[in-house]
Amino acid sequence: MQRQELIRLRTNLLEKGVKLIAVSKMKTPAEILEVYESGQRIFGENKVQDLVPKYDFLPKDIEWHMIGHLQTNKVKYIAPFVAMIESVDSFNLLHEINKRAAKVNRVIDFLFQVRIAKEETKFGLKEKELLEILDDPAFRQMKNVRACGVMGIATLTEDMEIVRDEFRLLKKAFDRVKKKYFSADEHFREISMGMSGDYEMAMEEGSTMVRIGTLIFGERFAPPPMLRAGE
Ligand SMILES: *Cc1c(COP(=O)(O)O)cnc(C)c1O
Repeated sequence: MQRQELIRLRTNLLEKGVKLIAVSKMKTPAEILEVYESGQRIFGENKVQDLVPKYDFLPKDIEWHMIGHLQTNKVKYIAPFVAMIESVDSFNLLHEINKRAAKVNRVIDFLFQVRIAKEETKFGLKEKELLEILDDPAFRQMKNVRACGVMGIATLTEDMEIVRDEFRLLKKAFDRVKKKYFSADEHFREISMGMSGDYEMAMEEGSTMVRIGTLIFGERFAPPPMLRAGE
């Protein structure tokens, strides 16, 4: 995407109150810097082992969002700097984030990842599991994490009506949770949904954060298998 187009996209979103997360997974620091130069400051990565070296190498005013499944044993590597963890999908993980944030004297913003896709493979909390966390007194005791809303990943399908239905599910879940648990908490306000192919629809359905990779950076190409051996 050309610099002017990107600036126009970001401005359009901002006018509608929607934040742009530039998803830079599998992109090089040079490619990220080019987007940074256009004024973009929020970037999303889905793997700790990529996020840490990119944080080290790139300007420190970048806000890094973790958007992929996060293993508890890797929280410690990103706790010192991550701006938001969008993918909290278990109470256990949240305990670990709270613990690691306390160690580095931080309060880490996070989103609950809610399972909206039909596919069994997708991570995320069922709404019932989310309510169990929110009802647990231990949740209220956590002083080093701050709940900022919900995130969802829709089914990968050409059928846009399925995707729209899933976005609606996430919006409804957000509304119920907001009303019952966070009505007086101004920080609980984000609905992270929408990617390159469906972000406009997501915004129609109430998204406040869109996670866009391909549209900004171009297609991602998987590295050849020999470079993936360490995974
Ligand atoms: C890769 C990814 C995106 C961006 O997808 P694009 O189709 O490239 O815009 C958004 N969210 C998550 C969780 C991702 O892993």
